Amino acid sequence: MRQFVYTGLPSRVIFGSGCVKKLSEEIDRLGAKRVLMISTPGRAAMVRSASTNLSVAGIFDKAVMHTPLEIANQVRELAKELRADCCVAVGGGSTIGFGKAVALTSGLPVVAVPTTYSGSEMTPIWGLSEGGLKKTGRDPKVLPKTVIYDPELTLDLPSEVSAASGMNAIAHCVEALYAHDGNPIVSLMAEEGIRALASALPRIIFNLKDLDARTDALYGSWLAGATISTTSVALHHKLCHVLGGMGLPHAETHSIVLPHAMQYNRDAAAQAMGRIAKAIGAVDAPRGIYELEKSLGLPLRLADIGMQQADLERAARIAAEAPYPNPRKVEYGPVLALLRNAYEGRRP
Ligand code: NAD
Repeated sequence: MRQFVYTGLPSRVIFGSGCVKKLSEEIDRLGAKRVLMISTPGRAAMVRSASTNLSVAGIFDKAVMHTPLEIANQVRELAKELRADCCVAVGGGSTIGFGKAVALTSGLPVVAVPTTYSGSEMTPIWGLSEGGLKKTGRDPKVLPKTVIYDPELTLDLPSEVSAASGMNAIAHCVEALYAHDGNPIVSLMAEEGIRALASALPRIIFNLKDLDARTDALYGSWLAGATISTTSVALHHKLCHVLGGMGLPHAETHSIVLPHAMQYNRDAAAQAMGRIAKAIGAVDAPRGIYELEKSLGLPLRLADIGMQQADLERAARIAAEAPYPNPRKVEYGPVLALLRNAYEGRRP
């Protein structure tokens, strides 16, 4: 075993079917009296029903993808006007991103009630976009104080969002397994997260209302978020950040790029690949992930989600010029080949 450093981050997790009912108890525990509820327009009804019995000072239901700075400033202003003392974000990674944006400038505590598998609720990572560029950073202030995982809230998550968001979570686990600053505890969580999600997603696609499968997927996404909360991410996440900046949808981009980024790292991270293959019951990890995505009906080609062929070289250049630490050296030529494979959806 190599040397390692393990940092545990403080967060309280309430997990289980129906546990959103404990929201008011959890807010009392934080001593909050003026809650600002945050959601996308799509989850507004869910937020209103979760607000009964809470001391709600106001509701912001205009969260959108990529946390544009202009809209983040609107919710920050609203929090000030209302003299809010806590934010409750009910929704996917986009909504939780708005809670984090408020916390970043005000230090207000965030309670997250995730309804997708993005894993953002477990991380101190924030992101804000402005002028087509996304800035990200890590700050302990934005880590939600309490996370309430209620699988019943995910029963209406459509199949394509469920599958893509689940693969986004698997991508966190994959990169945690070969992170340069990984450790044995995080690796255990990552392997178990992959196992839980890979077993749950096909059952969800077969029956969206399968509560056991929804529970397993949410469990896996909790583990996935926890893995990247303290370990670094590598080439795969770098490429997805670059492509996200070019306007590609977050979770689908993760899903399409993942088997190709794994193929890139296959020999340099052989031990991690072995653990991933075992967790998904495949002989070969990159190919197994590709086959899983195919079986879930996910798009397999960047060409199908808005990538322009003319932008492949630019994306490879940005990724190679300022790489994240990665098991295999990040070089322009091989990264361009990776992106071309992902663009055409070739089987690894
Ligand atoms: P999302 O939050 O944009 O949600 C996707 C869609 O699903 C939206 O239309 C939403 O309204 C809908 N939806 C959400 N929950 C639903 C439910 N229960 N039923 C029906 N529909 C529902 O997508 P996402 O993939 O969860 O999050 C993506 C964002 O999260 C990106 O901006 C990404 O950068 C960020 N993210 C951040 C981190 C982090 O650690 N900071 C980690 C992962 C993702």
